[in-house]
Amino acid sequence: SRFADAGLHPIMEKNVALCGYQIPTPIQAYAIPTILQGHDLMAIAQTGSGKTAAYLIPVLSKLMGKAKKLAGPRPKFGEAFDPKVNAVRAEPLVLVIVPTRELACQIFDEARRLCYRSMLRPCVAYGGGPVSHQRMELQKGCDILIGTPGRLIDFMGQTHVLSLRRVRYTIVDEADELLNTDWETEFAQLLSGGDSNEDADHRYMMFSATFNKTCRQVAKKHLETGYVRIR
Ligand code: AMP
Repeated sequence: SRFADAGLHPIMEKNVALCGYQIPTPIQAYAIPTILQGHDLMAIAQTGSGKTAAYLIPVLSKLMGKAKKLAGPRPKFGEAFDPKVNAVRAEPLVLVIVPTRELACQIFDEARRLCYRSMLRPCVAYGGGPVSHQRMELQKGCDILIGTPGRLIDFMGQTHVLSLRRVRYTIVDEADELLNTDWETEFAQLLSGGDSNEDADHRYMMFSATFNKTCRQVAKKHLETGYVRIR
């Protein structure tokens, strides 16, 4: 199978080619049509399998078709950005929750390449990084947010910085690592962020290297259409 046969948005098709991806990896061959059809997904996948593109390609491709209507608030066009004057609140459509700063940055890089020449704007938020810079980027508008739990919760607690009320896709990457940590309360808050979304369904995707009991419980609770396991 080829990316050209997947029915992707033309901008996404171009961006996939610009990334140099020609043949979908096994996980992509399975996940892309599944996600395009609107299903939730639970996948067993290791780093290096192409799992990031497996969810970013279909999710972003779907949003590109409606980006004009869906893209979040932005500072007024033509005005220089000044956080005291024209900051907007970040209201992402996609939330990717990851355990580490390294992974967050890697996914952000890939999201930037796959969002190229679309109206979708990706942002990243991780602990240990420069708070004010991350906040300022969020306040310029955000459609795709990749972050670690603590920093995401911090930004949600600050006035006019981040709201999850428009989230349509929540992706938990390296779920086994995340669920291993003490973030249980924060995690629940992040996962249900998009549940109040009034405009659309809220879809979940989980990716994990292993599939332990906690992963199964979270999958059972949140993945509505049942889950698909791929190795
Ligand atoms: P990941 O498993 O998401 O960490 O991806 C591992 C690496 O594979 C990344 O550097 C991607 O840019 C690359 N990659 C993802 N999908 C493909 C593909 N279909 N063809 C070639 N390289 C890919």
